[in-house]
Amino acid sequence: MRYHIWTLGCQMNVADSQRLASELERQGHQAAASPDEADILVINTCVVRQSAEDKAYGRLQELAKLKRTQPDKVIGLMGCLVGVRAPERLREKLPQVDVFMPPSDPQPMLDFLQTRAAEADARALEAEARARQDFLQDHPEEAEGALVLPAHERGHLVSAHVPVVYGCSHACTYCIIPFRRGIEKSRPVGEILGHVRSLARQGVREVTLLGQIVDRYGKDVPDGPNLAQLLRLVHRVAEEEGIYRIRFLTSHPNWMTDELLDAVADLPRVMPQIEVPVQAGNDEVLARMRRGYTVAQYRELVSKIRARVPDVAIHCDIIVGFPGETEAQFQDTYDLLAELKLDKVHLARYSPRPHTVSARTMPDDVPPEEKKRRHQLLEALQAQVSAEINARYVGRAVEVLVEGQHKGKWRGRTPQNKLVFFADEGQDWRGKLARVEIVSASAWSMQGRVLSGELVRG
Ligand code: SAH
Repeated sequence: MRYHIWTLGCQMNVADSQRLASELERQGHQAAASPDEADILVINTCVVRQSAEDKAYGRLQELAKLKRTQPDKVIGLMGCLVGVRAPERLREKLPQVDVFMPPSDPQPMLDFLQTRAAEADARALEAEARARQDFLQDHPEEAEGALVLPAHERGHLVSAHVPVVYGCSHACTYCIIPFRRGIEKSRPVGEILGHVRSLARQGVREVTLLGQIVDRYGKDVPDGPNLAQLLRLVHRVAEEEGIYRIRFLTSHPNWMTDELLDAVADLPRVMPQIEVPVQAGNDEVLARMRRGYTVAQYRELVSKIRARVPDVAIHCDIIVGFPGETEAQFQDTYDLLAELKLDKVHLARYSPRPHTVSARTMPDDVPPEEKKRRHQLLEALQAQVSAEINARYVGRAVEVLVEGQHKGKWRGRTPQNKLVFFADEGQDWRGKLARVEIVSASAWSMQGRVLSGELVRG
């Protein structure tokens, strides 16, 4: 059968959808060219903000209509809208859904399809099994952690995500993730290395290790490696298997150790990019968010990261309009961003989420227009900051890992994860490292020209 997956939300969901797609293809299913042609339709949901939840419900309504005329279609709902245990209420409310899957767990869909698959074409299955094995060469797909990419990504995907910590136990007062993804759980190191190794053998050249608080990796495993040690292990696999770049996100300021920063600085394949959200630039707001640090501590951390990791790019997240955020408190956030000049800021307007401490105990008292205004002010500020930072690259040569083509140009990223476009019809650059001179830059991307042939890495 043919499947289509709509993925909403974070990179963890992207990774979860990829795992589901991989498992579906292991059962012999194939990606549909468009949703209309799919027999299996899955929405992998996000509820971190109301707007994301609304998107999922919008799609579910369309699918309810579809199911009425075409009852054979298999409809799956996955992710944070479902939660660790799909509540009975949800099942009653959404009769169009055949299968509910918790975050990171494709098993219910696999079980459902298997019971339907009596008539599956055994020959097609066998051919796919052979193709998968060819790509993995001497690395069996049964190897611990191995992931066989869906056929449309196998040999094409350049940059992939690898979950290393599932769930979260921190409980920021605004955040629904711990309720939906369950408690923090580090993935066994052997599985992670097996996953990375299998990706490399299918052409992947960059891996991003994922966790809600990725710098807490290993804290729940006695005698297991911490994130710095994990990076060293992944680095060794990268050298053996031809992975050029390693990144990790998202970090929490309180767990960012010197050992971790030293690992980033020491290991040539770990890219100089640190994603470390501050969320707000005012101590009272941070305390109400229960983030566990002060603005002064964050400021010090930024200096330390910059001192220890040369040419580092620092990214952060900000929430505007948190309950009780005054104009002066917002101004503190504005001033902090103006002072720190971070490379990239992901901005969000506060939205109250079910079960969270802030939704239960703090009135959502910043009006929507005011949230919008604050959002726009920070957006304008950051556009200026990013443009200023990117302008410094003009005239410099940078190393670009090319991910694919876009409107006739090659599209890739620098070590600092900045987007670069360049034209070159002479060579297929996908998955390769190019030396590119930056010719012009904006806040969002840079244009360059390629300087030499492929940079070779072992
Ligand atoms: N665990 C990661 C990512 C969390 S979700 C972290 O701690 O950074 C990604 C971002 O969404 C958060 O960093 C936060 O800025 C934003 N976010 C989370 N809950 C939100 C809410 N209720 N309203 C608005 N933004 C929210």
